[in-house]
Amino acid sequence: MSLRFTLQPNPAPTSAERRAEILTDPKFGQYFTDHMARAVWTADRGWNDAVVVPFAPIPMHPGAAVLHYAQEIFEGMKAYRHADGSVWTFRPEANGERFARSARRLALPELPLPAFLESVTALVRADEVWVPTGEEQSLYLRPFMFASEAFFGVRPAAEVTYMVIASPVGPYFSGGVKPVSIWLSREYTRAGRGGTGAAKCGGNYAASLAPMLEAGEHGCDQVCFLDGTEGRYVEELGGMNLFFVTDDGRLVTPELGTILEGVTRASILALAKEMGLDVEERAVEITEWQEGARTGAIREVFACGTGAAVTPVGRLVWTDGEVVAPDTGAEDSVTMRLRRRLVDIQFGRAEDPHGWMRRL
Ligand code: PMP
Repeated sequence: MSLRFTLQPNPAPTSAERRAEILTDPKFGQYFTDHMARAVWTADRGWNDAVVVPFAPIPMHPGAAVLHYAQEIFEGMKAYRHADGSVWTFRPEANGERFARSARRLALPELPLPAFLESVTALVRADEVWVPTGEEQSLYLRPFMFASEAFFGVRPAAEVTYMVIASPVGPYFSGGVKPVSIWLSREYTRAGRGGTGAAKCGGNYAASLAPMLEAGEHGCDQVCFLDGTEGRYVEELGGMNLFFVTDDGRLVTPELGTILEGVTRASILALAKEMGLDVEERAVEITEWQEGARTGAIREVFACGTGAAVTPVGRLVWTDGEVVAPDTGAEDSVTMRLRRRLVDIQFGRAEDPHGWMRRL
């Protein structure tokens, strides 16, 4: 039986005037819509109490297990408004499936895919007016699940809360796409064999903050993590997957295992094949990047994820050196062509041959 998320409309939603003001410049994740979706799971009854309710703070027991042992997972996806006014999400099934995989790794109950899709649809329907119309604006959707049971034992919680909240977002790069600079972290790693690298759990992001600070101290925007065993292979950025374009027309990306299986990553792989590139998912040594960018064997490097879609990677900086791939940021680069292709599908400016878009 699938959950139905019944709507209890917000009796005091944000005024149209205030909303218009926010949507003119929504920034990233700063404002929230008028509703939120929620369901509760208990070991006795399974999933229940599915509702869309007015957006409000949630009461939390100080002993709730999530606050102590971080039994929590989340997702990130977007709703896009097309020129005819219709609202669409991009491959929500892929996010729902990844959410289920994350749940298994964190010993949380799986939310069945139909319920995941229904929760997102119900929330976006309730808050449709919050899906912006501006250039490259969208409504960011954040499903999450956490151990709400209060107890101090270390064991999977017997009461778990699932929620979806939404936040209008502007273009990731105000003033056009510009290359991000990357700090190569040697001090820290993100994931180890058998760890939680492939799961989207809050703890991974908490652990990425100290390396992020280190990146900032070196004048960089993002961190690149290497594998935790040998410190030799490129894994990913704190919140984006990495791709390399070689001088002989190949698109190379680190293989799955300890990295997050990005929905954008999978989509880029499909689009690149259609563009005639040979794609390779394999281990990539950091020296291949460092030397390849220097000699030109690697022409471009880019990162991808739901937030920024595709972004060129500029400088890679490490303790005693730095390098930039030669074709970084060029308008006719593979990076920018893939970016346009993806974003055009998401915003309904191009056909969607894969059936990735789902109409609300
Ligand atoms: N890697 C990490 C660690 C991330 O947090 C994200 C963002 N979810 C990605 C990659 C990109 O994933 P997606 O394309 O599904 O947004």
